[in-house]
Amino acid sequence: MSGTVSHSGKTKGLLIDVTLCIGCGACQEACVKEHNLPGGDDDQLSYRNYTVIQKHGDQFVRKLCMHCETPSCVSACPVGALNKRESGAVVWDHTKCFGCRYCMISCPFEIPTFEWYSYNPRIRKCVLCYERIEAGRPTACAEACPTEATLFGDRDTLIEVATQRIRSRAEKYQDHVWGLYEVGGTSVLYLSSVPFESLSFKKDLMQSPPSEITWRILGQVPNVVLIGAWVLGGFYFLYRRRHEVKAAEAHTTEKGGHGDAK
Ligand code: SF4
Ligand code: SF4
Ligand code: SF4
Repeated sequence: MSGTVSHSGKTKGLLIDVTLCIGCGACQEACVKEHNLPGGDDDQLSYRNYTVIQKHGDQFVRKLCMHCETPSCVSACPVGALNKRESGAVVWDHTKCFGCRYCMISCPFEIPTFEWYSYNPRIRKCVLCYERIEAGRPTACAEACPTEATLFGDRDTLIEVATQRIRSRAEKYQDHVWGLYEVGGTSVLYLSSVPFESLSFKKDLMQSPPSEITWRILGQVPNVVLIGAWVLGGFYFLYRRRHEVKAAEAHTTEKGGHGDAK
């Protein structure tokens, strides 16, 4: 299977070896197809793409959700609309989200995006192809990558592969598996031959999860603010519900039906 190392029932992940990436965009295209996204030749994440390819100097580097081990987006969400699944994927649930966008503010990598143009906006970000990986298949991007610059497998095995590559090619690689410890560890790991700062990775990221800080901050937010968020959320929910009902009615009328339950 292309772009896959052994995987069992353990937490999954991706190893992105920047030195092998040729910037072909096959991962981005495969993701667009798999998740039925609008797509587009962008180099910034938006509702159109769950992953993009950026060029920094001579190096191409993919950007996507890091699927943090202790995700701050999950702990910041007041209604539990984001969850870290056993497979490692951090996934958003449209049935719970009321649009406060705390997840966007709390993410240390500025990953989640929002459908600003829509009357019924959704949070958009990579979902680590959780349906595929939980059915024993690799992510669409790893399967499509022609150079194995994106490798899918058990996080533990990917760490071994990355460490082995650094050991056997010390002159080539930075002595750093990015994501091993950053923000408490991530399911998406990176290897590079140039310092990660030159690929626009943030420097001096905490080794402990920022979610711990999120909780501390939330603990200090006056209750009135949280109650306000809940009230606004209630209005938003009612607005969205009305919009959904209208859309469903319009759809039924277009089809010439009367919407009666069978
Ligand atoms: S990178 Fe951001 S959006 Fe992705 S899991 Fe981590 S905190 Fe959440
Ligand atoms: S893991 Fe899946 S959702 Fe995430 S970038 Fe790759 S193809 Fe897209
Ligand atoms: S498919 Fe592989 S080589 Fe092509 S841009 Fe994506 S990561 Fe790089």
